[in-house]
Amino acid sequence: MKRVLILGGTGEAVAFANDFGRRAGIGAVYSLAGRTRTPAVPDCDVRRGGFGGAEGLVRYVANTQIAAIVDMTHPYAARMAANARAASEATGVPLFKYLRPAWEEPPDAPWRHAETASDAARIVGERGFGRVFLSGGLNDVDAFSSLTEVWFLVRGIDPPETAPALASHHFLAARGPFGIAAEKALMQAWRVDALVSKNSGGGATVAKLHAARDLAIPIVMIDRPRQADHAVYTDISLLTVAMENFLR
Ligand code: NAP
Repeated sequence: MKRVLILGGTGEAVAFANDFGRRAGIGAVYSLAGRTRTPAVPDCDVRRGGFGGAEGLVRYVANTQIAAIVDMTHPYAARMAANARAASEATGVPLFKYLRPAWEEPPDAPWRHAETASDAARIVGERGFGRVFLSGGLNDVDAFSSLTEVWFLVRGIDPPETAPALASHHFLAARGPFGIAAEKALMQAWRVDALVSKNSGGGATVAKLHAARDLAIPIVMIDRPRQADHAVYTDISLLTVAMENFLR
């Protein structure tokens, strides 16, 4: 039995674990950070919670005899991705990295680019937006706390355990996929005048970009964090073939 550690937290990771984990001779372990209260999980061994940095991951990989690490975390999970890389280098256990392709900026409707959530907050303040849709969950909302004149619509999977540090907001608990008509209706109902988004890629949450464009609502895009320059799979079937070849 070859044990494969799948670092998850994305729809693709669940689907891959369900498919690849069922193969003869493979023992898949699906790992979650454990922050979402009711996450989607695959039908294989699941573990939750951090490993304790790169050193903790090195210990986990050695102690549980992992043959390969598959990093299928979200494109913004840069710390986990760096830890996976470091643990792979330290242990010699190969790393297979999947990265969901990014959304492309329409040439005729350019985004305002932000490097970080704090940078997005600076842009929101400078542009004088008044009713802003924060569509990327609760992780980064604190970056907007100094904008006390701005009202925020915050959308995430789980309601917050403690109120976000925003002067004025409404929290909407919702899980994609979302459709364009519903996204337009949402933005109109709340009279949103700007959308702040991450470039998550994929089909589940792209409708907000189409809706904002149709409504001429400006988009502030928090660009993807830079990740180490190494081989990346952007296609699940190619990742599957590479894994099959390696584990043969
Ligand atoms: P991050 O900043 O890269 O990770 C922070 C810490 O959380 C890591 O150092 C690690 O703790 C732990 N961690 C992250 N992913 C893990 C995993 N799959 N299994 C075990 N521990 C994990 O990542 P994040 O932005 O907080 O994202 C956390 C998880 O949510 C990821 O799995 C990601 O795929 C998913 N997610 C993130 C976003 C987003 O916008 N960031 C969106 C959707 C889903 P230790 O150092 O203690 O090991």
